[in-house]
Amino acid sequence: MKETQANNDTNQNTTHFGFENVNVEEKAGKVADVFHSVAAKYDIMNDLMSFGIHRLWKRLTIESSGVRSGHKVLDIAGGTGDLTMQFSKRVGDQGKVVLADINASMLNVGRDRLLDKGYGSNIEFVQANAECLPFPDNYFNAVSIAFGLRNVTDKDKAIRSMFRVLKPGGRLLILEFSKPTNTVLSDVYDKYSFTALPMMGKLITNDSESYKYLAESIRMHPDQETLKGMMDEAGFVNTRYQNMTGGIVALHTGVKA
Ligand code: SAM
Repeated sequence: MKETQANNDTNQNTTHFGFENVNVEEKAGKVADVFHSVAAKYDIMNDLMSFGIHRLWKRLTIESSGVRSGHKVLDIAGGTGDLTMQFSKRVGDQGKVVLADINASMLNVGRDRLLDKGYGSNIEFVQANAECLPFPDNYFNAVSIAFGLRNVTDKDKAIRSMFRVLKPGGRLLILEFSKPTNTVLSDVYDKYSFTALPMMGKLITNDSESYKYLAESIRMHPDQETLKGMMDEAGFVNTRYQNMTGGIVALHTGVKA
């Protein structure tokens, strides 16, 4: 089902959780259940499900960030900290990275993992909702949200909140599943995500439902042009996107003027 159709199916009080229609107040709790359940096996599942390709998508995101020594960066919905780790190296001792996530289980796995690997001196860990970020206006040089936005209940509110905390000239990076550009790829990808993903979830985490949600939430997420329009609407300039792996994933960027 396309997002435009999905939007028409929802009203002010309901939203989608995968293909299910739920009350707006229910969605965050349901998303929380998914990530509490998968947190411990999140990293291994990421490598298995994407055949390791998520590392390339993330590398391109870091390379497109313009982040350099001394910068302040927010990695919201940062989970187990893949992007935070790379940003931490880039900003150095004079800079700072905030790894923020709404979910305590994901944040704990991320914090333990980063501290075990020797990171931490320039990283802060904050439990926060992307819709109402607890940071001052005009504070960060860059904000990233990787594979997080589709889980957020009010995406427009989150994009506005990320705009607010960016300094003028600061950059937003949204890495997210998107719409494949080729119908053959799209069909293969559909079969893979609706059959193989829940099966792997069952085998590795004993939780097929969370991976069924993953596949459904990807289909319900705004396509490339719709998301770009949402960023324009929030006030970003120079908004653009780059498709990766045939549009399975897209990196959207925009600048706060
Ligand atoms: N960014 C990491 C990565 O790319 O590996 C983690 C992505 S994981 C698929 C999605 C993350 O979004 C989870 O850690 C989840 O807790 C977080 N999340 C969901 N809703 C959120 C919200 N409203 N605000 C902040 N984080 C949220």
